[in-house]
Parts: sequence; C-alpha cells; structure tokens
Amino acid sequence: MYEGIDKQLIPLIKNFIEKVRSEHLPQLANIIPADAVLRILEQEAVVIYFPEGLNSADSEEKPKNNGFLFDAIDFAGEKKHFVYINSAQTIDKQIFTAAHELGHLWQLNVYISERAPDIEYNEEDLMSRFAAEFLMPEKEFIDYASEFGSDYLKDGKISLFSMLCIISKLMNIFLCPYKAVVRRLYELDFISHEAIDFLIPTKQEDKLVLMDKIKEINIEFGYERLNNPDGKKWMSGLADMLDLAEKEGCVSKAKIAYLRRTFSLPENLQNKRFSASIPLGEKGDK
Ligand SMILES: [Zn+2]
Repeated sequence: MYEGIDKQLIPLIKNFIEKVRSEHLPQLANIIPADAVLRILEQEAVVIYFPEGLNSADSEEKPKNNGFLFDAIDFAGEKKHFVYINSAQTIDKQIFTAAHELGHLWQLNVYISERAPDIEYNEEDLMSRFAAEFLMPEKEFIDYASEFGSDYLKDGKISLFSMLCIISKLMNIFLCPYKAVVRRLYELDFISHEAIDFLIPTKQEDKLVLMDKIKEINIEFGYERLNNPDGKKWMSGLADMLDLAEKEGCVSKAKIAYLRRTFSLPENLQNKRFSASIPLGEKGDK
C-alpha cells in the first residue's frame, strides 16, 4: 500500500524547489523542466548513460537498476559528482531518475533536516517525492489532468481503460513514469487510495497485463518514446577526456581503445578537415 512521506514535509519540498529553480535555472522559472532535467543534471555532474540489460528477452529480467549517484570523486584535481543513468530504461524513467538524483545532489535532506529536525522520513521516498513535485508541478498537473479527465468522464465515472488513456497522456506531457503519474493523481486527489490497488496491482500477473495495455495505448497515441528505450551510450566530456589522456599518455592505448569502442566514439572526433573556420554573421561573433 502506497503511503508516501509525511505530509508536513510537502511545503518544505515546495520551498526547496522554488529555491533551486531560482538558483540553478532562472531561465526555466515558469516552465515544466521535463527533458531539460537531463541537461541540468549534466551541468551539475558527469553523467554516464549506459544501457544495462537492454536486450534481455525475459521481461522479469528487465533492468531493475534505474541509476545511481557516485560520491564526489577527485577528478583531474576537481571534485566531481558522477551519476549513472540506465538508458535501457525509457526516457520517462531516465528523467525521473535524473530528478531524483538532483534531489540528492542538491542535498534536499540537509535542507529538510535543518527545518524539520523532528520529522522522520525515508531518504529515497523523499527524493522521489521531490522528483514528482519538480517534474509534475501541482498547478500544471491539475490543469492537464482535469482537461484529459473531462474527455473521458461519463456519468461521473471513468473506466479503467479510460484512466489508462489519461495516464498515458500525462506520462507523455510530463515525461514521468507510469507509477509516478498514478501516485501524483492520488496525491492531488484525482483518484482515491483504493484506485492505487487497481492501477498498481501487487500480483505480478496483473501488473504485466496492465503494462501491456499501457504500451498498446502509447502506440495508439503515437508516444513511441514511452515504450522504446534509447539505449544511449554516452558520458559528458568523455571524447575530450580520452583525446587528452591519449595525448598525455596517462592511460594505456588498449584501455582508451576499449572505452572508445564501448561508447561508440571515433578515434579522432576533431580532425583537420573539421578545423576550418566558418564565416560568421553579425550576431554569431558576439
Ligand atoms: Zn536515491
């Protein structure tokens, strides 16, 4: 049964979001961060995208690992955070993971503990609630959920199928995972607590049937990215780092070649042919 975190913490999380928005992303002050979250995370940490368990045929074996944060590592004389994002997960899960890890990076737990030292919470639940509040702001979420809901409401009722259609549409707007959207619908009073048992069943068999239906609905609506992981293999700045390591001879040639192969990087990203200057216009040279 989904319980979530102590309700007294919600206003603090909201204040924290206002604070980080004004500190880290003033340009995004009034828009939903959605996939901009990955870009923000890339500014805050070295992000490694790698598909772990992408081709496993058995859905039971599907990647359980969404991603994680490494503690700050000394990296070329600088303390850097590293975040791993599993790109065998669909984009909505990658984005939710990124927001969750930003909560850790921005130390929401410290902020909370300073202001509410007596309230106990589970840190992972706290970060996930932060991700939900950050990616699905209350007002915007209510606006969209009401709009989609009114399309399906018949005699004051919504069928399970219609509810799945609404959830699919919300997943596509906010780029958030199924479960997170269902919880948000509950948190903001669109569905009752009992509805969670319908929508997030505990029996594995029921869960699979539901997930298959959501996938069919996503196809019907043209939301392919919600079904198909991008399998991205990328690490911010890796190509430059490997070029530098090769020049300085501080890493063996075999290791450099291995990393380039693994991340599908060419041997020479910036060769002579591409060093030619491009004539710029008036605004271009500012
Ligand atoms: Zn976490």
